[in-house]
Amino acid sequence: MTAYDDLMAFQRETEALDMIAGRLGWDQETMMPEGATTQRAEEHGAMANILHARRIDPRVGEWLEKAEAADDVAAANLRHIQRSYDRTAKVPAELAAELAKTTSLAHRIWAKARAEEDVASFLPILQKVLDLRKEEAAAVAGDANPYDALLDDYEPGATGASLAAMFDALRPRLVELRAAILEKPAPAALTGSFDEAGQLALSQKLALAFGYDLQHGRIDKAVHPFSSGSGLDVRITTRTNLQDPFNCFYSTVHEVGHATYEQGIHDAYLLTPLGAGVSMGVHESQSRIYENQLGRSRAFTGWLYGQMRDTFGDFGIADEEAFFATANRVHDGFIRTEADEVQYNLHVLLRFDLERALIAGDLAVNDLETAWNDRFKADFGYAVDKPSNGVLQDVHWSEGLFGYFPTYTLGNVYAGCLHEALRKAVPGLDDDLARGDTSRATGWLRENLQQHGGLRTPVETIAHAAGVAPTEGPLLEYLEAKFSGIYGL
Ligand code: ZN
Repeated sequence: MTAYDDLMAFQRETEALDMIAGRLGWDQETMMPEGATTQRAEEHGAMANILHARRIDPRVGEWLEKAEAADDVAAANLRHIQRSYDRTAKVPAELAAELAKTTSLAHRIWAKARAEEDVASFLPILQKVLDLRKEEAAAVAGDANPYDALLDDYEPGATGASLAAMFDALRPRLVELRAAILEKPAPAALTGSFDEAGQLALSQKLALAFGYDLQHGRIDKAVHPFSSGSGLDVRITTRTNLQDPFNCFYSTVHEVGHATYEQGIHDAYLLTPLGAGVSMGVHESQSRIYENQLGRSRAFTGWLYGQMRDTFGDFGIADEEAFFATANRVHDGFIRTEADEVQYNLHVLLRFDLERALIAGDLAVNDLETAWNDRFKADFGYAVDKPSNGVLQDVHWSEGLFGYFPTYTLGNVYAGCLHEALRKAVPGLDDDLARGDTSRATGWLRENLQQHGGLRTPVETIAHAAGVAPTEGPLLEYLEAKFSGIYGL
């Protein structure tokens, strides 16, 4: 056994334990009896301690010093393990424990503050979470940029400055596109009620149409849709709303994008550092291209229209063309997770700019709500009416997830680049999509991106598949062309 073999055998067990920890989380959201909450918290804590100890085990350090990479795969494995080892070792155990305790408390205070529309009651604990995360960033990065150190947790290699350059180019064109669209008459919205059994049956049909493998997965109901797991066991959840079947269908397709990425990774990478999606941004590129560029395309919505008529009968939308507009309807709203393709990124950009200012010390926590409301008014043209529709709407900051929001828009940017390359590589794709057949699209994504897991860095992963370094251009061109067509701009 070489040092590399010893290291990889140890790592495999760590990866397996990490899968178990993830499945505890899945269980909590789907199956766990309500009374088990406090016990589950202890179970989570015990697993977190075991994983932490294994990641900074002194033997890992010794193996890393001696191990030699025989090929690209071994080099990538060593790069991932070294990164995790360095990062974990740099954060003092007391700080990690304090962060876990504080964010758990902050989450409860945030939920109460949101329910009571009381921003002031949330700010002291938010300040504490922010201070602890800044302390963590300083421990990891020294004098280097603290926001970049936090961002690196979710999107290795990205920097706040490089994302800001990309996002600053997106924002004015999205604001302009949004304003032009909202001057036009809105397409019809769905009306009436769509039974739950029909929604669940059609959402499973959609999952299968997008290549989700139920032999290695399952679909359950949860309050918030998510995907969980890697390798041979990748599960998703969905939800239903009788008035809004699109919520069920498109959140299913979104989670299927995440899940088929995990299912599509090469078998040889199972339970190794390469056996999971490489970053949050790349992950989101898969969920978004399935959901939007493919799932909300004119061709695919034509097929979905027929499926919905078969399932629910006549639901008042005259034809495929009208249904395409309905499925892509742009409307006013305050909530990020309910936003359409055009406005979604404006919600994310707002959060990105505010959290960078918080971390840099350019914005005080006490001024956060005013800054949020001013920015919202500037980009959306109307005022936030209550905190639950504004600064208190998202869970992320209470959990200390500074640096997470930009990966949503980065995922859309990446999806734009991949979609452009996909359309060139697969001519006549719309003929497939119009029959509900995504196999050539998903096959191209699996071949060029998904199977490679963590082999390359996130930017290299996209560049390898798209053939060019990622930029915001293709996303903007796609959005402007699609919505100009729908709204007659
Ligand atoms: Zn997602």
